[in-house]
Amino acid sequence: MLINRRTLLRGSGAAAGVFVLGAPALLGQARQRVVIIGGGPGGATAAKYLAKDSEGKLDVVLVEPKKQFTTCFHSNLFLGDFKSFDEITHGYEKIAAQGVRMNHQMAGSIDRDKKEVVLADGLRLPYDRLVLSPGIDLKYDSVPGWSQQHEETMPHAWQAGDQTRLLKARLDAVPDGGTIVMIAPPNPYRCPPGPYERASMMAHVLKAKGRTKAKIVIIDPKETFSKQGLFQEGWEKYYPGMVEWLGPKVHDGLKSVDPKTNTVETGFETYKNAALVNVIPAQMAGKIARDAQLANQSGYCPIQPDSMKSTIDPNIYILGDACIAGEMPKSGFSANSQAKVAAMMIRGELLGARTFPARYANTCWSLIETGDVVKVGGAYEAKEGAIKASSTFVSKTGEDADLRKQNAQENTGWYAGIIADMFG
Ligand SMILES: Cc1cc2nc3c(=O)[nH]c(=O)nc-3n(C[C@H](O)[C@H](O)[C@H](O)COP(=O)(O)OP(=O)(O)OC[C@H]3O[C@@H](n4cnc5c(N)ncnc54)[C@H](O)[C@@H]3O)c2cc1C
Repeated sequence: MLINRRTLLRGSGAAAGVFVLGAPALLGQARQRVVIIGGGPGGATAAKYLAKDSEGKLDVVLVEPKKQFTTCFHSNLFLGDFKSFDEITHGYEKIAAQGVRMNHQMAGSIDRDKKEVVLADGLRLPYDRLVLSPGIDLKYDSVPGWSQQHEETMPHAWQAGDQTRLLKARLDAVPDGGTIVMIAPPNPYRCPPGPYERASMMAHVLKAKGRTKAKIVIIDPKETFSKQGLFQEGWEKYYPGMVEWLGPKVHDGLKSVDPKTNTVETGFETYKNAALVNVIPAQMAGKIARDAQLANQSGYCPIQPDSMKSTIDPNIYILGDACIAGEMPKSGFSANSQAKVAAMMIRGELLGARTFPARYANTCWSLIETGDVVKVGGAYEAKEGAIKASSTFVSKTGEDADLRKQNAQENTGWYAGIIADMFG
């Protein structure tokens, strides 16, 4: 068949919006193409840096269904009335202006043999390198009695957007004396300190509304959790009697939840008629990565620690929450840092650009109460076949209030900085 511009357009099924997908490769144009799936911290950063640093020499396509991205990071601050929803929601216009071609739909599958992404509309999008940053999927069957159909009744809000707003509305409606039950997730999961910062913000809102007889009970499958001493000290100091954390030895296992009656049953106690149940289930890499056989038995995707390249397919890089990043936690900061390494390595492979040894960084700040922020973080590198910490730091209990205020300023500055870095 004669391939001309018209058949390409028709074949794309696309009346193709702003660009003709597939055309450059098929027409033999010189630019090599990098397709990125997922426009979160990993994917958006990779797309921006690939387009910016290759100065137009690469064809960079970002596939992401959403036109606006609401960050999970600082969504707890939205719950706590420290930020508006608009302040945690961002568009892709600026990275498009840097030469990233946006395609707002789901990628349906990856044909690894042909090096093509099959988009939801059926269009096949060839790539020279593929970057995958699809985030997490929730394991809807990991909490007995709960499933996807119950996420409106017992919200998770672990993927930001409507769920975040729903949890906020439900939180604001909790009466004085009401009980919030939070089901915390097992490791490994997105944002290790996230559930506990969330509990702090819930307590903050209740306290601000004078509902100090309300209670937040955290049912945790883990024996310990991130920044535990710091959170527990903060809860004691600011919200006495309001936050109760129960590890597995105390609650004796989560038996079931009943969305009809808002009941949570553990081996130790039954919480009936809870004012709010926040179920944060177990997690795994996004479907597109699992379907492409890029994940191992853990449900996450193994990568080469010195490049972020999949250990399973040398043409694919995997970033952020979907990958197994050794000692790096699953965070937006980590995903952003990993994306810069991957972008550098891809430019090295496709354009012969100079590369440097991979260096990664992460810090997770958590707001406990106004002006009191704690942090944990580190610098990371490839060592002995994994990403390992070369240095770490963590806030200390009993710290000076000024230091915590300084952390709060860092947290604000970091959010503005990473948003400018990802979407700016
Ligand atoms: C409550 C909470 C608080 C947090 N706080 C912090 C914090 O303070 N600091 C921090 O650094 N991190 C924080 N995090 C973690 C952070 O949000 C995640 O680690 C980060 O978003 C991961 O980025 P990602 O690019 O891997 O995935 P995501 O942010 O999930 O982005 C993935 C994107 O891929 C898209 N996608 C998925 N599948 C497809 C497909 N098939 N086709 C096309 N697109 C697809 C999705 O639409 C999504 O936009 C927090 C998380 C939560 C839940």
